[in-house]
Amino acid sequence: MVDVDAVVVGSGPNGLAAAVTLARAGLSVQVVERADTIGGGARTAELTLPGFHHDVCSAVHPMALASGFFRRFELERRVELVVPELSYGHPLDGGRAGLAWHDLERTVDGLGRDGDAYRRIMGPLVDRADRMAQFTLSPLLQLPRHPLTAILFGLAALEQGSPAWNARFSEEAAPAMLTGVAAHAIQRMPSLGTAAVALSLGAHAHARGWPVPIGGSQSIVDAMVDDLRAHGATITTGVDVASLSELPRSTAVLLDVNAHAMLDIAGDRLPDAYRRRVRRFRFGNAAAKVDFALSGPVPWTNTALAGAGTLHVGGTRSEIAHTEAEVAAGRHSANPYVLVSQPSAADPGRAPAGQHVLWAYTHVPSGSDVDQTEAVTAQIERFAPGFRDLILATASRTAVQMQQDNPNYVGGDIAAGAATFAQLIARPVLSTDPWRTPAEGLYLCSSSTPPGPGVHGLPGYYAARSALRHEFGIDSGPSLALGR
Ligand SMILES: Cc1cc2nc3c(=O)[nH]c(=O)nc-3n(C[C@H](O)[C@H](O)[C@H](O)COP(=O)(O)OP(=O)(O)OC[C@H]3O[C@@H](n4cnc5c(N)ncnc54)[C@H](O)[C@@H]3O)c2cc1C
Repeated sequence: MVDVDAVVVGSGPNGLAAAVTLARAGLSVQVVERADTIGGGARTAELTLPGFHHDVCSAVHPMALASGFFRRFELERRVELVVPELSYGHPLDGGRAGLAWHDLERTVDGLGRDGDAYRRIMGPLVDRADRMAQFTLSPLLQLPRHPLTAILFGLAALEQGSPAWNARFSEEAAPAMLTGVAAHAIQRMPSLGTAAVALSLGAHAHARGWPVPIGGSQSIVDAMVDDLRAHGATITTGVDVASLSELPRSTAVLLDVNAHAMLDIAGDRLPDAYRRRVRRFRFGNAAAKVDFALSGPVPWTNTALAGAGTLHVGGTRSEIAHTEAEVAAGRHSANPYVLVSQPSAADPGRAPAGQHVLWAYTHVPSGSDVDQTEAVTAQIERFAPGFRDLILATASRTAVQMQQDNPNYVGGDIAAGAATFAQLIARPVLSTDPWRTPAEGLYLCSSSTPPGPGVHGLPGYYAARSALRHEFGIDSGPSLALGR
């Protein structure tokens, strides 16, 4: 006798994607969330001053338009997504900048002598971005459906992941741009993992663009919650689940928690051999975040950067590689890499008229409790003198506080497990169905499973599809389309 067909623990984008998929298949679903608000890494809140709406975690959604889950869910019909003309900018000293326009040719034109080299590496991936997404965003143990695209991607990754990564370039902007994207992986570079991130996110910047949701990431969560409620699911907040025994009786339980937390929650329901394999899954370097309320737009020396949705602030390729190596060695960098988003440039409603929100995080060693407000401010000021004078208020979260806010981010690792090449394949274990655990009816659906971090809902979708198949005998994916 069960109380409900499926319970989902955690309401991050992956928990919600799992719940939507199960509810759409006609199952009764209950979502249980420890925080008082729904959405995990995709919430928006007034973190600094009234009227300033900050994205608590994710801000920009390069994967949203490429995700098979969000395409089936018709996200674009439910949430207004603005695609900035300038996907990302990369300021350099002296007012120079790398500008990654949505339009690849415009980008190439701005890269001087390196324009052709940049087109030769990115062009084939941009042309095949959807095919590329079919293997970068699907379980890596499946054979790629488009082998030519996989080969082109692999060759480019071998080059950009090796010490020969500068061979094709003669100036600073193009390699700095690729490095700024590679650094999203928060690890030492060059490596295969950082190169794969640079090429995949970099190609999406020119293919479908890097969208910013009107109203913030919370809009994406709200669309999933609306769908869930319309299909009879319930969501309970403020319940921190420590053990499976606390949950209502159900046929399936899907955990949107990190891989190690799953071991704690499942206790002896999981066999020792599996527990040992999961314990080998390791967490990575951390992020520390700073949100700003500003009295005006950031005064970038290079004025083209005013329209960028995202900026990679940290200087040249060698500076950023050095910084990431410092962090990997357990040191705070004096010259940090800062990932910046200016959501109110695309969505003015995020702040009172004429004023702005600015979202930033930097990389720090795991478990750091060092407030990064001054380090981040100084690095932005380097490329935007006068920035400091615009600050009305700040809200800072150290790596330790990141974990206190959301236990999925162990030590401040916002990927819920280092996104190394090996751990993108074995996530958290090497398996053709890594979402399904050996315990009957128990699934892991967080970004500790493939295809890993980012707001794309795919770990949740794949876990739900596995549960539908194995626990409920439903082989085909339900329609997720609007209005069905
Ligand atoms: C600062 C920051 C910036 C980011 N920027 C971006 C970005 O710009 N673009 C992008 O695509 N991605 C970004 N990400 C990554 C993205 O937010 C995550 O990859 C994504 O949210 C993972 O989704 P998830 O559902 O697996 O986990 P989460 O979003 O972490 O959600 C897990 C949920 O489970 C709940 N939970 C955990 N344990 C329990 C428990 N025991 N009982 C009950 N509930 C529990 C948590 O409270 C949380 O709500 C960012 C992340 C951070 C932290």
